[in-house]
Amino acid sequence: MAQEDVFKKLVSHCKEYGFIFPSSEIYDGLGAVYDYGQMGVELKNNIKKYWWDSMVLLNENIVGIDSAIFMHPTIWKASGHVDAFNDPLIDNRDSKKRYRADVLIEDQLAKYDEKINKEVAKAAKRFKEAFDEEQFRATNPRILENQAKREALHARFAKALNDNNLEELRQIILDEEIVCPISGTRNWTDVRQFNLMFSTEMGSTSDGAMKVYLRPETAQGIFVNYLNVQKTGRMKIPFGIAQIGKAFRNEIVARQFIFRVREFEQMEMQFFVRPGSELEWFAKWKETRLKWHKALGFGDANYRYHDHDKLAHYANAATDIEFQMPFGFKEVEGIHSRTNFDLSQHESYSGKNIKYFDPELNESYTPYIIETSIGVDRMFLSIISASYCEEKLENGETRVVLKLPAALAPVKLAVMPLVKKDGLPEKARQIIDDLKFHFHYQYDEKDSIGKRYRRQDAIGTPYCITIDHQTLEDNCVTIRHRDTMEQERVAITDLKNIIADKVSITSLLKKLL
Ligand code: ATP
Repeated sequence: MAQEDVFKKLVSHCKEYGFIFPSSEIYDGLGAVYDYGQMGVELKNNIKKYWWDSMVLLNENIVGIDSAIFMHPTIWKASGHVDAFNDPLIDNRDSKKRYRADVLIEDQLAKYDEKINKEVAKAAKRFKEAFDEEQFRATNPRILENQAKREALHARFAKALNDNNLEELRQIILDEEIVCPISGTRNWTDVRQFNLMFSTEMGSTSDGAMKVYLRPETAQGIFVNYLNVQKTGRMKIPFGIAQIGKAFRNEIVARQFIFRVREFEQMEMQFFVRPGSELEWFAKWKETRLKWHKALGFGDANYRYHDHDKLAHYANAATDIEFQMPFGFKEVEGIHSRTNFDLSQHESYSGKNIKYFDPELNESYTPYIIETSIGVDRMFLSIISASYCEEKLENGETRVVLKLPAALAPVKLAVMPLVKKDGLPEKARQIIDDLKFHFHYQYDEKDSIGKRYRRQDAIGTPYCITIDHQTLEDNCVTIRHRDTMEQERVAITDLKNIIADKVSITSLLKKLL
């Protein structure tokens, strides 16, 4: 199945099974805003718990906070967001559609990669075992030509971005003959900068209301509180502050479902270190965070680092962790060495001394910061797209199954009496009364067992338990495993241990040590 079709199916699956609904749907929706349904919220909460515990439980020197969404507007001046949190936008005059100029060019770069990869795949098929990919890439004239074009475009693009040269960005789009995917024309406007922050007004005084912003990242709430936390928590450098919360960006082009939305959640951890030690810590967090992703078991080949060519003005190192989504490798998390830029800016704009006194060095300094920043919604998308499977069964039917990591699954077990009589529902209820304190469960007595299994497969429930007539005699049930569909007979008294071992967040956290 083409990747696009898989993606479409995924989106409708998310809706059909209560994971994600378009926001304000009965009013025809609101662009790039989504609501999480009864299954979605459970999966999302489990993702957040996995992240939070990996930071706050596993590290003595990391604590959490929950700062307000509204902050003093000067914070966004100091952080650079008021002046520079922009994306370059361009309109097509014929379709009236708006695009990000940088994304149009990135897509063009990806097209060169695609051409090269197609050429390689074709040759691999033709030459079979005798194929030497490295040699082919180094010598094939068509590949070399495309590679040269790609490199030239990349260099020109990076320079235009670094120089903030909007005319040059437009010229690149014209020279590369990039057309609007809707109108198919090259009738482009000039490129303009567009600020991504949402603003609103707070209070109503005789002098007028104050313009405030909806935060575009949670990080600043950590920076302006770092000394409060350090002092009240008696934290010693190096230490970290973690936060999960909503962020808002007025994205120009918001496509690809929950990949790029206007209201989203971030999980950010800012790690405060001694000046000079930041690159060592950057390397450590880069590794630690990749391990966190890989522990989910989707296969190491689905992840890669993308080190930034163009560093933000405040950073001295930056990388993204990318995941293979149905539409290619995409950023899920950013890890940035932010130097002491943020704290220095807040010191200068607030006029307050927010230096840290280091008792070991007996001196004060502005700490350097390593940031790990991941979007909950993007993480959700990566997990659900990697878990979605359509499997042909022996009887010719197809089952749709979400092979979610058991620890993240919204429902951990389904309890099903084989029939709705003979005391089986009552026995099922007894089992539930014991297990409900430990696991999120569903009780299902409707339809055939096969249909009930399909319903649970579709929401990714790792275990189904069937109560039959024999259960009343031997106090054993059949437990069915989602991925293998294997069934085994186990004692009711063993159920809790069997399930707990696999579905707890602890089982994931242990892989990180
Ligand atoms: P992009 O280049 O995709 O716009 P970014 O580099 O601006 O992302 P950061 O500012 O580093 O992103 O934000 C950290 C993380 O927050 C991203 O890795 C992503 O997971 C998430 N994120 C950022 N913007 C959005 C958005 N509009 N919708 C969903 N998640 C987002």
